Order: sequence, then C-alpha cells, then structure tokens
Amino acid sequence: MTERFPFVACAYARALAESSDAFRRQLEPDVRELEDDEELGPDPFDEEGEASGCFGLKQRFPDRVLVMTSNACFMNCRHCTRKGLLRHAEVVRSDEELAACAAYVQEHPLVRDVLLSGGDPLVLPDAEVMRFVRAFAALPQVDVVRLCTRAPCVNPARVTRDLAALLGRCGKVWVNTQFNHPDELTPAAAEACTNLVRAGLPVSCQTVLLAGVNDSADVLLDLFRALQRARVRPYYVFQCDPVAGISHFRVPLERAVEIERECAARIGGLGLPRFVADVPGADRKIPLAELEV
Ligand code: SF4
Repeated sequence: MTERFPFVACAYARALAESSDAFRRQLEPDVRELEDDEELGPDPFDEEGEASGCFGLKQRFPDRVLVMTSNACFMNCRHCTRKGLLRHAEVVRSDEELAACAAYVQEHPLVRDVLLSGGDPLVLPDAEVMRFVRAFAALPQVDVVRLCTRAPCVNPARVTRDLAALLGRCGKVWVNTQFNHPDELTPAAAEACTNLVRAGLPVSCQTVLLAGVNDSADVLLDLFRALQRARVRPYYVFQCDPVAGISHFRVPLERAVEIERECAARIGGLGLPRFVADVPGADRKIPLAELEV
C-alpha cells in the first residue's frame, strides 16, 4: 500500500499520533485506501492537466493561481487530495521557472491572489520560502500571497519567530493552515500560530471533515473554539474530495449538513467557518447546503 501512497511522518507528527487516535487516523496507512472504486482517479480537479502553459503554475479561477513549491510534506496526510499526485508534481525550482510564473501572473491582470502550495512550502529553507514570496509580492497587482502549510499543526517548531518576522515584513502574506481535531492544538501548535499572528500575519484554518476523526458537532465546536483561542480564524470546513484512496474518510452529505446546522446553532460570528465542497468543474467552492438533494 505504501508503494502507491507512501508513508511519511516527522518525529513531532509520530509523537502526536501516539497520544491522539484522531490524529493517528490521519497519519497511519489503512488498507481501505486500496479499496476505492476504480472510477475515482487521483486527480478530479485536473491539477496535473491544467494547461496554464507555465511549469508548476495552475489556474482554476480567474483571480488566483496556485504555484507548486515542493512535492514533499512533513507528513503525508492519508486524506490528502493530492496523495496520488505529489510525487509527480511539477515543482518550481529554478529562478527561470519562478520568473516565468511571475510573468504569467503579470500577463493575467485579474490575478490578485497567489497560493504557494505543494506539498508544503515550509519544507523548504527560509531563504527559499522567501524567494517565492518576494517574486509574487513584488507585483503591484498581487494583494495576497497565501502560504498554504500544515506546519503549525504537524511540525510547529518549523514556524520560528525569525521565519514569521520575515514573512510579516513582506506585508502581503496570509497563512492558510489545517487543523482537523482539537487534540492538534497542542501548546507547541498554539505557539506556532501565535508567532505568525504576532508578526502581523492573518492565519486561517481549512479543516477537512473526516469520518472517524471529526464528524461530530461537539468535536468541531471544540476545535473552532481552540482555534479562536490561538487567534486562528476557522475559515472553511471542506467535504473530503472524491479522490482515489480517501473514500473511507468521506462523511455522507446529509450527515455533513446536519453537523453544519448543529454547529451554526451553537457558535456564531467568527467562530463559524463555511462548510463547502470543492466540486470538479465548479467556478467556486460550493456550500454544502446547496448540494443537498
Ligand atoms: S500537508 Fe497538505 S499537501 Fe501535505 S499531505 Fe497533508 S494535506 Fe496533503
């Protein structure tokens, strides 16, 4: 199984998995990963095939682009949408490739939001991370450089004050991270988030709704409250994508909507994220309630 979907976990993630069943289920290979319907492919959003014509850059929406900065992560999440793609991803490495990505953005003036993703950009050294950040932050049309990283959750020591200060000085960086269960908000994780916030970086959380991990309103509400205490905005709860190898994590839509309603009745304002699905071919994230039949 790990030949098809490799197992990767840093020391911190392994230790957290020892103390939390909910986190262990996101880290440990499961034989059900091989039982998926053959109709499900590894790439429902055609991330491999999106023909931007620019190596390592993907564009699905007019106002934003995704730049692949690495094909490695501190831990290979078993529910990852890109689990079948990461090893083969087109990763931007050379200055010429990066300059071509910046030129692509300039040729598409509607683009104002650049997502630095992968893999996890923070597996790269600080200087490399900043090379990417500066290349896009320097473009006047770009308002937001979004750093998509799970480091605050799975390797919080990586989020040093020095790194946060570098990112904060840039003035355009926002951080998107992923916490899925309150067990993940350890003191070290909360400190990583605090480092970012103190450096002036807005930090948001995109949680994935996962069967057996967080598919109850009680668990999610504890998570949202813990995130707010760490000054992280609970932003989205994603329905698990229709990708080969992760079906056993998918929560039935009816149940997901039920959970959303219960959360909405019990927490409001900034504590309540939007529950959405990324639907292949759609021009936006679709609220779960709109998908209900
Ligand atoms: S950190 Fe993100 S990209 Fe990496 S395996 Fe986890 S979900 Fe996928």
